[in-house]
Amino acid sequence: MKLAHPRTGKRFDSPVPAGAGWPGDPATRATAVADSAAQVTAMAEAAESVDQLDAEVAVCRACPRLVEWRERVAVQKRKSYAGEPYWGRPAPGWGASRPRVMVVGLAPAAHGANRTGRVFTGDRSGDFLFAALHRAGLANQSLCVDAADGLALNDTRIVAAVRCAPPANAPTPAERATCAPWLDAEWRLVGADVRVVIALGGFAWRAALDMVRAAGGSVGRPVPKFGHGATAVLETSHGEVTLMGVYHPSQQNTFTGKLTPQMLDDVFGKAAEIAGTRT
Ligand code: SF4
Repeated sequence: MKLAHPRTGKRFDSPVPAGAGWPGDPATRATAVADSAAQVTAMAEAAESVDQLDAEVAVCRACPRLVEWRERVAVQKRKSYAGEPYWGRPAPGWGASRPRVMVVGLAPAAHGANRTGRVFTGDRSGDFLFAALHRAGLANQSLCVDAADGLALNDTRIVAAVRCAPPANAPTPAERATCAPWLDAEWRLVGADVRVVIALGGFAWRAALDMVRAAGGSVGRPVPKFGHGATAVLETSHGEVTLMGVYHPSQQNTFTGKLTPQMLDDVFGKAAEIAGTRT
């Protein structure tokens, strides 16, 4: 049964078919679909633009367990969203196409990005994150509800290390490895102006280090360790990039006060200064 998008009113199946008119859907019905790890690698290496990459990510079906999970969640839904269509597909990177700041997260949330189709959108983690990006001048507004809410990022791009919602927020090492070429390709296609990479949690920190290494960069010795407020200067083919760690804005961290708005403000403010996004 088709249901209306909560903002646009257009009706969609769950999961949403490619090219059906969902806000921000980068794919069309003609977009090539990767359905194995080998195809992800080949298509990611061949991608010639970030638009092509986003489209191919948005229809990827290479991880059977994650495809089954994301689509099952899109049908079963959470009670409070039962009247909405669910995206039920991978969440591509989103934001500036030539960013100076790249924010790396773990994976979409089952009822967040897997519902709205935009990374970190539609859950409390995203609310916390985008409010902080707005305070740092990296987003035009703090409101973050759905993919047609008018939110835009300033010199900033947000990506997930794994682009499908995993059960229990825990991708397997094999799923992480299967998805990694999409992140590597994103770095190749949009990374030239990036001066700061912000890793949301230890998983994202390791993914960011792997991303830089995969592109021939150097992360130094000993390998930098994740911590909130940790920084490391990485050598990349386009110069020095500062990696900054913050605790993941999960409810577990924000509700308990392990991560406060001030703690995010301190890191994002510093990141904006290093990256020169402020005028
Ligand atoms: S996690 Fe990544 S590689 Fe696996 S199906 Fe989703 S987009 Fe494809």
